[in-house]
Amino acid sequence: MNAETKKMLRALPSVASLLEHEEVVDWLAGSPRSYVVSSLQEAIDEAREAILDGDDISVDPDDLVAEAEVYLLERSTPSLRGVINATGIVLHTGLGRAPLCEAAVEALAESIGGYCNLEYDLETGQRGKRQVHVSELLAEITGAEAATVVNNNAAATLLILQTLANGKDVVVSRGQLVEIGGSFRLPDIIRAAGVTLKEVGTTNRTRISDYEQAIGSDTAALVRVHTSNYRIEGFCESVGIDELVELAHRFDLPVVDDLGSGALFDLKPLGLPDEPHVQASVDAGADLICFSGDKLLGGPQCGIIVGRQDLIDQIEANPLMRTYRVGKLTLLALEATLRCYADREQAPELVPTLAMLTATTEDLAKRAEKLSELLSQVLPEEHFFVGSDVAYAGGGTLPAQELTTVVVQWRPAGAGATEIAAALREAEVPVIARIRNEAICFDLRTIGDDDLESLVDSVASAILDDEEEEDEDTNDVSLPIL
Ligand SMILES: *Cc1c(COP(=O)(O)O)cnc(C)c1O
Repeated sequence: MNAETKKMLRALPSVASLLEHEEVVDWLAGSPRSYVVSSLQEAIDEAREAILDGDDISVDPDDLVAEAEVYLLERSTPSLRGVINATGIVLHTGLGRAPLCEAAVEALAESIGGYCNLEYDLETGQRGKRQVHVSELLAEITGAEAATVVNNNAAATLLILQTLANGKDVVVSRGQLVEIGGSFRLPDIIRAAGVTLKEVGTTNRTRISDYEQAIGSDTAALVRVHTSNYRIEGFCESVGIDELVELAHRFDLPVVDDLGSGALFDLKPLGLPDEPHVQASVDAGADLICFSGDKLLGGPQCGIIVGRQDLIDQIEANPLMRTYRVGKLTLLALEATLRCYADREQAPELVPTLAMLTATTEDLAKRAEKLSELLSQVLPEEHFFVGSDVAYAGGGTLPAQELTTVVVQWRPAGAGATEIAAALREAEVPVIARIRNEAICFDLRTIGDDDLESLVDSVASAILDDEEEEDEDTNDVSLPIL
């Protein structure tokens, strides 16, 4: 180590001395001391490493405090926070799937800071069941005898299989052995439930006779899985739920229908594709039906099971039920969401997921014009174009449904789209956008009116950040280390 390096290391201020810096004293009034101390330490450590690497850096307390402020800001920003979804994908698992409806947000705000009658029967003053707050509503909406709720649909599937078929077989069509993102593979779940999988048919074609031949003395159920995230086209054949129920009941077996995306009822009148829906399965006589709460239903993350009372009772008596139990946050949000379905005609206005999926291109175009105008006002030297695009609005949930959408396209003047997209993700309100043909696309299907101002702010800050970074790069080049 040369003398210069030693001298610089000795000149580095200590945390204790920086704690007395005027600015740092101000921070302590608003930030936890532990955050401040570790941010100062981080800045000093960084400086020490730079010195040891032979970099000519400043050891001036003001400069170190300025560095530490960046770390303090990082530490003080919550890790999990709101973002603007500009991808146009309404049910984006990475972005938390369904945004909650207003009624759910209100229900949470009202009740969550205090106590609630989660498992307490207000009429009798006795211990109650947490499921009651939603089970009747679910039964009413779907027409099923009974209903229960667990943590997610993967848990629902496992719990159903474990309850009905542990130590036995279930029959499933090869074409329906799906993998859902996030490592949910149906064959693995079946195995984990202690159940033997009997695959029937081929990838593209399964007939009712395939199921019939597979039924044996160890068969506990016939299982249908909605291939909610892909589709088979062309020379294909599958067995409808009616036919499957008829066969199963002839052998005195239950039908389990994993509907996954779980449209509660026929969404075709709303202009959405012909999805299998819960009510149709109930009407067809499926014995147990399970689906996610945060897909097409538009509620909180949970797994919903509806069907025969005696089977729901068995499931609720399974000791594993306790391990998948939902909390009060989920139940509050789910009850409020389900109440939006009381009047079916109104549901698409009240439930954001349905509202976004059914928004007309005229509505989207209006919002796009507004966004483009706001952006042009703040960034007059940039060019924003309103255009139409075709996108898979349902993400992995409505894989067959290409919907025409409206986007604001932007090719940043002084920077690449990839760099700006990265800066947008790091903005105070992060914006997640897609890039097509080197243009950043803001898809208005998932951008609400309330998002517009924040989005413009984030775009402005992303440009600024990018320019600053470029300045730094130029400094590095033009001012070589002395
Ligand atoms: C989404 C889905 C699941 C998993 O549901 P989660 O609520 O994400 O656990 C299971 N089965 C099908 C058919 C699905 O579409």
